[in-house]
Amino acid sequence: MSRDILVLERLCKSFGPVEVTRDVSLAIRDGERHALIGPNGAGKSTLFHLISGNYKPTSGRIVLDGHDIGGLDPARVNRRGLARSFQITNIFPGLSVAENLRLAVMRRHGLQFTVWRRVSHLRRVNAEVEELLCKIRLEARAHLVAGDLPYSDQRSLEIGMTLASDPKVILLDEPMAGMSHEETEYTTGLIREVTAGRTLMIVEHDMDVVFTLADRITVLVYGAVIATGTPAEIRESARVKEAYLGEEAR
Ligand code: ADP
Ligand code: MG
Repeated sequence: MSRDILVLERLCKSFGPVEVTRDVSLAIRDGERHALIGPNGAGKSTLFHLISGNYKPTSGRIVLDGHDIGGLDPARVNRRGLARSFQITNIFPGLSVAENLRLAVMRRHGLQFTVWRRVSHLRRVNAEVEELLCKIRLEARAHLVAGDLPYSDQRSLEIGMTLASDPKVILLDEPMAGMSHEETEYTTGLIREVTAGRTLMIVEHDMDVVFTLADRITVLVYGAVIATGTPAEIRESARVKEAYLGEEAR
């Protein structure tokens, strides 16, 4: 049994009087692919914002790889080994694919790399960009303007940008939203590939994707966890059927 890499303890988030995250406790195991599902408005994106440091918790703890990261800003959380994509595409549409990746790689290396004095730095950045292009299968499109790419290639690029910081944990919020069946299958395969050896938390509405990709699934309803388990356990859970999956099936 592998250790836990990300632990949420009684996490709560309120906006004014509205409790959006209610007492969420969850342990994500090192190396697993964990899907977060639940109806619209359940608080899935909010939970990701809390973990990534975009929102500060009202109460509770977030422990990443043994370090308490609750309340740290996103850049610090990223340096601790966690990267995320957003529900909305987060690339620079006017820049090329390679330029987008270059920016992400430079962000990881920090300020020193923005001053181009050392040829060795430049070489290292170029090598990392090439490696990322290969991982996301966009070598042949490196010099195309990102905004002109088909939608699924833009999502691949965004996944590449989350990989630039070489994160231990990756959060993807609805990466397949708006995709055709073929694009969804393609991107599912890509996600499986690039997250090998890492830990994935993914929000996804397509239940075929969720049940084939995830090692474990957590169901969130009205901001609270109602179940965590293997795909088989979740499929069989009467509570989940009643609160969510049954409703989807109808
Ligand atoms: P999901 O991603 O599961 O669809 P969200 O996390 O986006 O759900 O939203 C959960 C609830 O929290 C929604 O009712 C939403 O209106 C509310 N919410 C999210 N962010 C904020 C915010 N910044 N201020 C106030 N309410 C918010
Ligand atoms: Mg959402």
